[in-house]
Amino acid sequence: MADCLFCKIIAGDIPSSKVYEDDYVYAFRDIAPQAPVHILVVPKEHIASVGEITAENSAVAARIFEVIPKIAGAEGLTGGYRVVSNCGADAGQTVGHLHFHILGGKKLSLEMA
Ligand code: 5GP
Ligand code: ZN
Repeated sequence: MADCLFCKIIAGDIPSSKVYEDDYVYAFRDIAPQAPVHILVVPKEHIASVGEITAENSAVAARIFEVIPKIAGAEGLTGGYRVVSNCGADAGQTVGHLHFHILGGKKLSLEMA
């Protein structure tokens, strides 16, 4: 997608601090971390949000959830971590490319909304 920030990051047109990459998935550090470890995991294919996951494209979502524990392990998040995906305006989604936040490295607040 020409006008998508995360597509530009995946393409290398905008620099990022990469923590993982394979043929389908890219992960990088959030520019404004909310926790000591704050990583965004995204599909290389442009999918707008969780709301756009379908039977046709869900394999990459499964792949993302295989990758998340690997990243958490590599980051030393032995005490646990949170995985969050904001879907749509009411949830506060600000970038329209599916992404999962990995948050950890401290005792996280239980506030959900
Ligand atoms: P959302 O609010 O859509 O759930 O999450 C978008 C996330 O992308 C935010 O946590 C924000 O800090 C992060 N972000 C926005 N622009 C950039 C950028 O240019 N580089 C990186 N690494 N993260 C970004
Ligand atoms: Zn995109």
